Amino acid sequence: MIAGDRCTRACSFCAVDTAKPLPLDAGEPQRVAEAAQRMKLKHAVITAVARDDLADGGAAHFHDTIEAVRRFNPGIIIEVLVPDFNDRDSAIETVLAARPHIFNHNLETVRRLTPEIRSRATYDRSLSVLAKARQRGHPGLHTKSGLMLGLGETPEELRTALADLRRIGCDLLTLGQYLQPTRNHFQVVEYIHPDQFKAYGEEARKMGFVHVASAPLVRSSYHAADFNPEPPAAGATQAKI
Ligand code: SF4
Repeated sequence: MIAGDRCTRACSFCAVDTAKPLPLDAGEPQRVAEAAQRMKLKHAVITAVARDDLADGGAAHFHDTIEAVRRFNPGIIIEVLVPDFNDRDSAIETVLAARPHIFNHNLETVRRLTPEIRSRATYDRSLSVLAKARQRGHPGLHTKSGLMLGLGETPEELRTALADLRRIGCDLLTLGQYLQPTRNHFQVVEYIHPDQFKAYGEEARKMGFVHVASAPLVRSSYHAADFNPEPPAAGATQAKI
């Protein structure tokens, strides 16, 4: 996770601290790249807090980190898990210009629950970010999204969300059980049975998602290297940065 550990938003499901962020560390992209090199990663997932305090939302920092990771790690698969950048075209294009292999932005939950669950984010804005990435990214770019289940969504609401993602060309999906990080966070409404996760995963594949991870413990970067747009060098390992 780059750009610090203080987020400008306060999502009711998330344990990241909400506070005034520190200035960006210009040396971070190279250190991340060197860390990936030391770990011999074949697939790096680079994410960040929401930096609404910055004019570009931290997009240039993503760009610099992607480029540094690629420079130090030839052949590595680079996946970014980005905030919504307030749907700013220039920020999305800045990230895309660094040509990540996978552009991930989480929908997190269904339309009805979004205002309760997410801070300063909207369902339609997230769809718009993913649609722009699909339209403006390089032809080989994959877009990815994820939802937490057990927040009170109905199966029909989930199916609508998955259809909305497919409509804008999103082809990679994660579905996992929401777990309450502290008593102050949003309460779990339901524990979804593993068989139901499996059934949702099968439905999603039939809808056209080319890679789906759907199980209680799945998170955004869960076994991310299982989907490889280009096979990286043998002997490498996967880890989340
Ligand atoms: S924007 Fe991301 S990091 Fe910030 S509180 Fe929401 S989920 Fe957590």
